[in-house]
Amino acid sequence: MHQLTLAEIARGLADKKFSSEELTKVLLARIAQLDPQLNSFISITEDLALQQAKAADARRANGESGALLGAPIAHKDLFCTQGIRTSCGSKMLDNFKAPYDATVVAKLAAAGAVTLGKTNMDEFAMGSANESSYYGAVKNPWNLEHVPGGSSGGSAAAVAARLLPAATGTDTGGSIRQPAALTNLTGLKPTYGRVSRWGMIAYASSLDQGGPLARTAEDCAILLQGMAGFDPQDSTSIDEPVPDYSASLNGSLQGLRIGVPKEYFGAGLDPRIAELIHNSVKELEKLGAVVKEISLPNMQHAIPAYYVIAPAEASSNLSRFDGVRFGYRCEDPKNLIDLYKRSRGEGFGPEVQRRIMVGAYALSAGYYDAYYLKAQKIRRLIKNDFMAAFNEVDIILGPTTPNPAWKLGAKNSDPVAAYLEDVYTITANLAGLPGLSMPAGFVDGLPVGVQLLAPYFQEGRLLNVAHQYQLNTDWHTRTPTGF
Ligand code: GLN
Repeated sequence: MHQLTLAEIARGLADKKFSSEELTKVLLARIAQLDPQLNSFISITEDLALQQAKAADARRANGESGALLGAPIAHKDLFCTQGIRTSCGSKMLDNFKAPYDATVVAKLAAAGAVTLGKTNMDEFAMGSANESSYYGAVKNPWNLEHVPGGSSGGSAAAVAARLLPAATGTDTGGSIRQPAALTNLTGLKPTYGRVSRWGMIAYASSLDQGGPLARTAEDCAILLQGMAGFDPQDSTSIDEPVPDYSASLNGSLQGLRIGVPKEYFGAGLDPRIAELIHNSVKELEKLGAVVKEISLPNMQHAIPAYYVIAPAEASSNLSRFDGVRFGYRCEDPKNLIDLYKRSRGEGFGPEVQRRIMVGAYALSAGYYDAYYLKAQKIRRLIKNDFMAAFNEVDIILGPTTPNPAWKLGAKNSDPVAAYLEDVYTITANLAGLPGLSMPAGFVDGLPVGVQLLAPYFQEGRLLNVAHQYQLNTDWHTRTPTGF
């Protein structure tokens, strides 16, 4: 039963082949048995899951239907869940039980989804390896000595290991697409403003966006349907109608114009990954797509711009964790300054502290123009590059990451080496565009992802291209040994 996708589960539940309660019990047992190897969960919400599963079964018995009614999922541990620890992977929030549900959590619960637990993540979503969590590193089910990617690495490892069919993630600079690529999943970062950020603990507010991680594009469509939509409680939420994503999956790719940026294939890209990306292009050409080389000339400036803007926003967002209002408080503070200093010094891990320092520096008087303002100008240039490219092509295709999953600890002493892994993903966040990563093959037994980017609100187009590709390839069906 654990091999079923969300779409198959929906059919099985509708046909009364099994109940949500039966399925939930099977998956909870699997999590208990296998998760100790992976460390993909911070909290397992067994009681809530069984209660939600029974309620979903009762709703179905009363004639209700819906693709998510009774479907087991998990939430990245930065989505607030009422009465349940929401840690953000940090000692700072180890004792924090959210007093309300994030909009995403509430919407999915209303659609009947069953929450199995809260997944492990890089502390405050900062990272690309899931090694910075207060709860320990997450392991990649494809090779337990390798990282699963980050920061939504717990969600990715759990879904890849078939502990559950799908999970939520968030993507500030690649944290849905990169772990999806490194664990052989399909992951979608929606257009900025498509999914409410209300109740999602902020890292960099102008870049953060929640989205689905699953094995197939078909399942991402189902989960996104439950997550997307206008929310008056998020001032950057956009009031655009939500299309039927599952209905968008069956469009022909005949004449689809795919742009492949020449800058994506420079030094730094593993040539074996380049070959797999070219193979995926050929596959899409067979389906009728037309390929064209394009240029994104400002891409080289994306990493420096991102690593000014994201820490700047983080330094401001994380100022609320001061040992007073909620979260960790140090023992026996001598005075108010000592309380602030030690609560923050003891509650935040080293990567979070590094980013707060970089961000506070970039925003400080005298440096603001030189760093923050400059980075914002680069951000606009990057957006303009995309706008020009989308005048010529319908989607942009390239690698999701320059390398496959690296060994645990391999980049710990060199944060910049880890930052460079984000080179292909962060531009979509800087521009606010939707992006998807899907399985494209393997290098040394480790999965490789191909990334697709589309114009604003064209999530349906991304899902359609990925679904057509997945109807004609079987990379996404491969299962890691032992799971
Ligand atoms: N790796 C990037 C960072 O560390 C992206 C993280 C994310 O998308 N949350 O900032």
